[in-house]
Amino acid sequence: MRIPTEEYVKWRDAVFKRDKSICQNPNCTFCGNKKGVPIDPHHIKPMSIYPELEFDVDNGITYCKEFHLKSGLHKGISKVRGFREFKI
Ligand SMILES: [Zn+2]
Ligand SMILES: [Zn+2]
Repeated sequence: MRIPTEEYVKWRDAVFKRDKSICQNPNCTFCGNKKGVPIDPHHIKPMSIYPELEFDVDNGITYCKEFHLKSGLHKGISKVRGFREFKI
């Protein structure tokens, strides 16, 4: 596991704050869009393809951990140039 950089932590916190720490998947079947479930920040445009958007808050979205891991959002991405998102 990587050590998250300060820049990453700032980006993540800004994304969580903007989304009020609630999963942004509409009518999420994993978390029911409730507060207090484990959440992850996700890059809308994969940073393996758009590395310049890595710390762009507009490119971040909050999802619950379950949706983030199980929805297949990262399918194909990891094969392109490596799965670079941090898990904390
Ligand atoms: Zn993600
Ligand atoms: Zn969710």
